[in-house]
Amino acid sequence: MSLFDKFRIGLQKTHNQLTHELKRLFTRSPKLDAEALERLEAALIASDLGLQMTEQIVQAVRTAYESQGKAGTRLFEVAEREIASAFGSNDRSLRKVPKGLTVVSVVGVNGTGKTTTAAKLAHHVQSQGQRAMLAACDTFRAAAIEQLKLWGQKLNVEVVAGSYGADAASVAHDAVAAAQARGVDYLFADTAGRLHTKHNLMQELQKLHRVIARQLPGAPHEVLLVLDATTGMNAMNQAKEFNKAASLTGLVITKLDGTSKGGMVVAIQKELGLPVKFIGLGEQADDLQPFDPGEYARALFAD
Ligand code: GDP
Repeated sequence: MSLFDKFRIGLQKTHNQLTHELKRLFTRSPKLDAEALERLEAALIASDLGLQMTEQIVQAVRTAYESQGKAGTRLFEVAEREIASAFGSNDRSLRKVPKGLTVVSVVGVNGTGKTTTAAKLAHHVQSQGQRAMLAACDTFRAAAIEQLKLWGQKLNVEVVAGSYGADAASVAHDAVAAAQARGVDYLFADTAGRLHTKHNLMQELQKLHRVIARQLPGAPHEVLLVLDATTGMNAMNQAKEFNKAASLTGLVITKLDGTSKGGMVVAIQKELGLPVKFIGLGEQADDLQPFDPGEYARALFAD
């Protein structure tokens, strides 16, 4: 399956939200009147593209219409172009140190898809010929340790885990040592997403990162925040909290296949200024895809 097909299928719900009603409207009367513009605006807002992006698109459509007349105005093409260009030229690739081990810390609130994403990332680098290891640093959730071990078996990736309730920093310490000893290229650490208080959670995360850095200067090289697209713009508050506690280097937006609010990818990146590096389009190992703004925008509006 091509990358575009993956994006198209995964973003089907958002695509439908954006295009169904508008297509009907324009088939009936291909005139860009006030009603059509209002419907366009409503559809864009409902997909969580955010107010700023929505207004930008509506304005671009209106300008195109005024300069070209109705025959030349391809509504969806204009919208697609505006969205694709909104992402700028951020570096979206997964960081890799020139030599030795790259450590990636995967952070986020429980239930967002953090554990699954850590496993999928291991699969991603493996499929590019790199060797991966996983660290089960969410020691507060017994199921997370088991879940990661199961993924490890399935993907044939070694998982370093402590017992339930163990010190997460000591698991991370052991994992970095094991990863260096085995000479793997990437270590992905699944971290805790819920402690007694938010303050606790953030302190725990900082401690974890300090321990990793002490052992391997410069690490973690990448701190990816996992956000659940089905929570729409609520993800923004989570992102701001995590951004205060850790130096985030990028975002992973999961469960885009389960929502019609897939426009939040644009709004959240605009607001936070952090690159969206991967998106989750399903539950399988290869459903995590490197984010591509052009393919994303095309999938939102393509026929
Ligand atoms: P964690 O608590 O943040 O570690 O979340 P998990 O990794 O346990 O994921 C929670 C649920 O979301 C699991 O059932 C995953 O299979 C599911 N999930 C994760 N990513 C995606 C995605 O991109 N699409 C869909 N449909 N489900 C996902």
